[in-house]
Formats: sequence, structure tokens, C-alpha cells
Amino acid sequence: MKIPEHGLAADTLLDQLNALRARDLPWREGRVFGYTFDGGREVEALAKRAFTDYLSENALDPTVFPSLLQLENDIVGMAVAHLHGGAQAVGNFTSGGTESILLAVKAARDWAREHRPAAKRPTMLLPVTAHAAFHKAAQYLDVAIRPIPVGRNSFRVDVAALRAAIDDQCILMVGSAPSYAHGVIDPIEDMAALAREHGLWLHVDGCIGGFLLPYFERLGAAVPRFDFRVAGVSSISMDLHKYAYCPKGASVVLYRDSELRKYQLFACAAWTGYSMVNTTVQSTKSGGPMAAAWAVLRHLGETGYLELARRVKHTTEALVAGIRAIPELQLLAPPDMSLLAFNSNQIDIFLLADLMRDRGWYVQPQLGYQDYPANIHLSIDPGNYGLEAPFLADLRAAVAEARAVPRNDAGARIAAAFAGLDPAAVDERTLNGMLAMAGIQGRGLPGRMAEINALLNALPAELRARLLKLYVNALFVPTPA
Ligand SMILES: *Cc1c(COP(=O)(O)O)cnc(C)c1O
Repeated sequence: MKIPEHGLAADTLLDQLNALRARDLPWREGRVFGYTFDGGREVEALAKRAFTDYLSENALDPTVFPSLLQLENDIVGMAVAHLHGGAQAVGNFTSGGTESILLAVKAARDWAREHRPAAKRPTMLLPVTAHAAFHKAAQYLDVAIRPIPVGRNSFRVDVAALRAAIDDQCILMVGSAPSYAHGVIDPIEDMAALAREHGLWLHVDGCIGGFLLPYFERLGAAVPRFDFRVAGVSSISMDLHKYAYCPKGASVVLYRDSELRKYQLFACAAWTGYSMVNTTVQSTKSGGPMAAAWAVLRHLGETGYLELARRVKHTTEALVAGIRAIPELQLLAPPDMSLLAFNSNQIDIFLLADLMRDRGWYVQPQLGYQDYPANIHLSIDPGNYGLEAPFLADLRAAVAEARAVPRNDAGARIAAAFAGLDPAAVDERTLNGMLAMAGIQGRGLPGRMAEINALLNALPAELRARLLKLYVNALFVPTPA
């Protein structure tokens, strides 16, 4: 595409933008279990107004836009109170969970340079269930990862294994409240005791659960302590663009005190331009997400959030019961919140995901890793409320349909054919060869995913990552002029 010689009319362009969305998932109908968190049309309308009102204000410089400093401090104030931070707790507004996590890992690394100088190879103790964003942080920040197993049935971090893995290179441990994949909360109190004993930084990833769990607790759920009430918790990430129903680009990273947050900040006066000081990764930063988050938090209020949480809890319980009643399916762990994962040893779970898509539902396939099985993940949100019965009816029908299809072993065959391949040596030709063997034609976005998922599932994780990079490298190509 080229920039048009003469600009097009606003209406034409807005129509075109709208038309492009026809291929996207119709998330407003509540048939999507992931990616979107629907607080309702009224919340959406308010968020859009507040967002566009502040779209052009720039949070780069709080002395020029003091309104944004105020909004950020207000939001962090609400977040800190929500998670029982003391009077010393501080934090910042970020663009999302990944940025919050990057910043927390960076703060922990720079803190360790001062406080744990023996750690020449700074290492993070990371449960295998921790979000991939920590691997991203490790890669970006050159922090090593020591993976920690989780219980085979609980999917919570194995505290004995965690203890055994600690040495003088460790700087940081991570717990999830809850984990994304299986929706269970790590034993944060036990982890915090270990962190204190060994002088380690403990980050709690409350990206998906930090905001919702306090409401689940009020609704009677048994929620183990995970927040700043637990001595030893150094920092917490909590997304607002998930269960706080704020538009995307909204998260907070919180610290027990400003001594710890200091290590997050960036300042530079060693260039010819204006002296730069940034709290976050972004420098120029739209006020839109902040203004929208500020408005949504204050519009819904405690009663609004509690009602939405009630719906989420109701739907989760109904789906758990419905899935338990399908003999072919096994719930991997009882969910602590509103995220669940199930698998099957009788039918092809990846085929099941496609068959649900045929019926107009989006469910998320997750690949197996080490001995942890492949599964289908559901993130339940208020948009799904009321659709429990039709969803379960379609799930039963899709399971019956999948039963009739012979198990596809193409993935395992291809994986065997390419076994022992050095991931670094894999190139586009290897990728094309694999795809051809799997019967996958052409490029661009795939329609059916079962074959691709089966193939990836049969390969070691490093090879998967390599293939995915090659695939995406070919996907993001400029539209021809
Ligand atoms: C969503 C999520 C993240 C990453 O957040 P993004 O907003 O997608 O960058 C991290 N941890 C958990 C548990 C999450 O659910």
C-alpha cells in the first residue's frame, strides 16, 4: 500500500475500518473465551469517550501535563488500596502486563546488583506455569531462568523444588495469582517465607487475578493471601485491561515501597537533548488509556465490580460442572478463579477446538509442555454470562463429533522425521517441508488449526519457538504497493 495522493473522506475510511473487522472474532456476542474482557456497552462507551478525550495528551512530561500525573497517582492509589499495600507502597501505570513484568524484573535485577553482588549471573526462579512474559523479560534483560516444576495435579509451584533450586546466583522468584494457563494460585505465603529467608525479591504476577480475586473472596471463594499483606512480597503486577474492564493498554506495577521502585526508573542527561526521565518503557505515552482506566474504575465502583464478579463466578461454576459431566473431558485442576483448562485422553483436543470454532465459539488450545498435557483453556468473562447452556450443548456435540474422527498422528510422524534437528539450523525450507507433510497448504492466516497445533505439540519447545518466529516473520510483510 502507498499513502494516497489525495486524502480520503473520513466517513469512507471509518467505513473501511469497520468492514475490515468482519473477519475478527465477534467478541461482543459472548462466544469468545479469551482476549477480551467485556464490562458491557455502557462501560465501553464511557471508556471510548475518556480515551479519545485524552488521546493526544502526552504522559512523557508530568510538568507539562500535570493532569496525567494526577490520573496516574489516583489509579495507583486505587490499586494499592485494593491489594493492601501499606502507606509506603508505590507503583506506576503501564501499557500492559508484559510491560509491568519487564519493569519488575528490571527493578529486581538492578536491585540485586546492589544487594546481591555475588550473583554474577542473575537468575530468576520461575515456575513452569509462569507467564511467557517472564521469559521475554529474561531475554530482553539478560537474566537467566531456572525453571521450577509444579505439582502434577495441583499445577501449583512445588515449594520443596523451589527451596532446593536456590543458590547465590538467584535474585528473584515469581509466583502467579493465579496462573493464566490453569487458573490456580501459587502458595505465595510459603514462597514469601523462602524469599525472606534467602533475601530474594518476590514478584507476584497478579496480572489476570490481582483485580478480580478480592471480589471472589467477598463472594465466598477461598482465596489464599497473595497481596502486600504477605510480608516478603516485593512487587505485584496487575492488569486493568483484563478483569477491571478498562481498554487495552492498562496495567499497574506496584512495589512494597519506593526504595524498590527506584530501580525501575530511567534517567539520562548524557545526550544533547532534553534531560529524560521515564518511569516506564514507553517515553511518549498517550493519556488515553490512563484517562479511560481512571473513568472505568470510578464508574463501576465496588458494587459494579462485585456484580460483574458474581456473573463470572456463576459462569465458571456452571462450566466446571458441565465439563466434569462430560466423560471424555478432564479438568486439569479446580480453578481458583475464572480460568480453567481441560484435556482428554480419548479425543483430539485440537480438533475439538476447531469444531467449537465451527459452532461459533472461540476456545484456546494450549500445547503440552514437558509432562504437562495439552489442553483447552477458557478465560471466562461477564460477556459469557447466560450462555452456559448453549456452550455446553455445543461442547457435548463437538466431543461426540471428535470421537468419530480417527486420532491424527501426523504431528508425531513429522516430529519423528525431523527429530534431532538443531533449532538454529531450521530455516524456511524446513518449515515449508513440515507444513507440506502436515497437509498444510499456502501461507497467510490458517483457517483450521488442529494440524498445526498437533505438529507443534509433537516438537520440542525450542523448535516450536523457532518455527513460530519463521512463520510470523513471513506473516508481517508490507502490503504491496
Ligand atoms: C495477561 C497476562 C500477562 C501478560 O499481560 P499482557 O497484558 O498480555 O501483556 C502476564 N501474566 C498473566 C498471568 C496474564 O494473564
